[in-house]
Amino acid sequence: MKKFMKFFSNKKVGVALVIVFIFINVYITTSMFTSNPKKLEYVKFEEMLSHGQVQEVILNFSAPKFTFTDIQGNKYITDNPRMEGFKALLLKSNVEVTENNSNRLILDFAVAFLPFPIFLGFFYFLFKNSLKGVSVVSNQKPKRTVKSSIRFCDIAGNEESKEDMIYLVDFLKEPKKYRDMGAILPKGVIFYGPPGTGKTLMAKAIAGEAGVPFHYASGSDFVEMYVGVGAKRVRELFAEAKKNTPCVVFVDEIDAIGGKRGRDSNSERDQTINALLNELDGFDTSQGILVIAATNRLDDLDEALVRPGRFDRHIAINLPDKEDRLKILHLHAKGKTFSKDVDFEQLAKLTIGFAGAGLKTLLNESAIIAVQNKHSEITANDVDKAFYKIVMKGDEKKNRKNRDKSEIELVAWHEAGHAVIAKLVAKKSVPKVTIIPSTSGAGGVTFIPPEKLGLHSKEDLINDVMISYGGRVGEYLLLGHEDKITTGASSDISKATATIKSIIKYYGMTDSFGMLNLDDFGYNDDKAILGEAKRMAKDIYDKTLEILKNNKDILKSVADKLIEKETLEEKELDQILFGKSSKNEKTIENK
Ligand code: ATP
Repeated sequence: MKKFMKFFSNKKVGVALVIVFIFINVYITTSMFTSNPKKLEYVKFEEMLSHGQVQEVILNFSAPKFTFTDIQGNKYITDNPRMEGFKALLLKSNVEVTENNSNRLILDFAVAFLPFPIFLGFFYFLFKNSLKGVSVVSNQKPKRTVKSSIRFCDIAGNEESKEDMIYLVDFLKEPKKYRDMGAILPKGVIFYGPPGTGKTLMAKAIAGEAGVPFHYASGSDFVEMYVGVGAKRVRELFAEAKKNTPCVVFVDEIDAIGGKRGRDSNSERDQTINALLNELDGFDTSQGILVIAATNRLDDLDEALVRPGRFDRHIAINLPDKEDRLKILHLHAKGKTFSKDVDFEQLAKLTIGFAGAGLKTLLNESAIIAVQNKHSEITANDVDKAFYKIVMKGDEKKNRKNRDKSEIELVAWHEAGHAVIAKLVAKKSVPKVTIIPSTSGAGGVTFIPPEKLGLHSKEDLINDVMISYGGRVGEYLLLGHEDKITTGASSDISKATATIKSIIKYYGMTDSFGMLNLDDFGYNDDKAILGEAKRMAKDIYDKTLEILKNNKDILKSVADKLIEKETLEEKELDQILFGKSSKNEKTIENK
């Protein structure tokens, strides 16, 4: 059925069918009205009437002739006797009599043309979507022009990028000053960086600071089915901008149209990107149009777009570091009332990997939870719940009653295994460990924020694998044998496998394969790689087992506390692991 709809929704097929239909309709109708009835003598008519061969008579009393149809459907015309009782005679002979000729004509016309509107209706239904697309082209203006009220003070952190932007703001404010000095503005600036880091915010702040109009469009607005539509929209966007100089034109998600070409030829996209390049080449920066594009992936952009004279200024908008996260948290905390127990420093530390948008969401979620809990201010507990919800994708309200006791015990030992290895071996921070199931399906969660986002040593990687194996080893130490271990460790095992694979194949960290990227080298001996991976996995597992066996009392204490309290904070964990004093009293070297 879908194929059928798709075939008929094709514009060319549709147009062809409409033409064929009109042709057939006109042919039938004209032949209907132009087919001349055969002339017949009246006596012959009488003869046919007496033999019951007349089906229908169309009678106009004043006309000299009348037409009739025989039982085979042949039409005849003959003299009208215009005699009294003629109609009665016909009716007695079982003939259908239609008295008014002109009404009949209208009826015939109606019958002939009736299918036409029905047919058009049917095609309108099939074409509805494509017709919509066509009307969008002419009516919808994907661009939005606004007066931006955002200022640099609305962006927390990102100091270097802001400084970089100051001269652009100045240029937009006083283009003449720069023109007189012979300075030219970069044609296009690209902001690149992870989602939610404030690229749109920065572009708006430039327009806001300069007090110039902000024209917004998203790359996806230009992605159209019909060839030429995207290009038309690009031209419209720049035509609008030229009317409002000086101004900022911001194209979000530029990769939607400006991705590398060649791999899959797409004439619509090619035309759109060409239109964008033409527009960029075609205007003089002294007019005061600053084009800013944003993308998450600079590497994926077409070379033509990023070459000198086009989008040649590339500015990274990175994930915020701890200091910047703290500034962003403080900025978005404005207008919200927090209780004294909310520790923003600690929150900034915990939220490693969060972009500005994520931090804003976290505080907003905390405020919602505070309202739901009927709190007069946002408490540390509300923030904690929000964090739990966002990061661990858990829901503390989940019904836990129907989990049986042995399952709870197993999950507790599993999570305790992760937590103990993370603390004792990897010396990582574990802000929270819980046996409350997460919405993603895990039985419990041990939250270990990544401490560094950049380079990792071989030791770091092996520690990560040990943390992953800690869960399975915890289960094993509770049960005492392998038969009852659960599938709970499956995602841990995938994670560990991916790390081991990278150590061997890409990071050149094994003696057997040396410092080579096996993929680049075209090395495909899966057996040898698997052999090395198995050896490494067994080694790490055995080490994990040994460490947890030697610390089984600690493991049991953590598991028992988890069964009792369901969730443990870092402080409680440290208390069990290191006694009263803080962490790092007892650590195990992974050598
Ligand atoms: P995407 O790549 O998904 O389009 P983006 O990088 O353009 O995202 P924005 O849309 O600018 O990110 O950011 C979303 C929101 O996050 C902003 O409106 C702002 O409220 C908040 N935000 C992001 N970064 C910061 C920051 N440095 N300071 C203050 N708020 C920020």
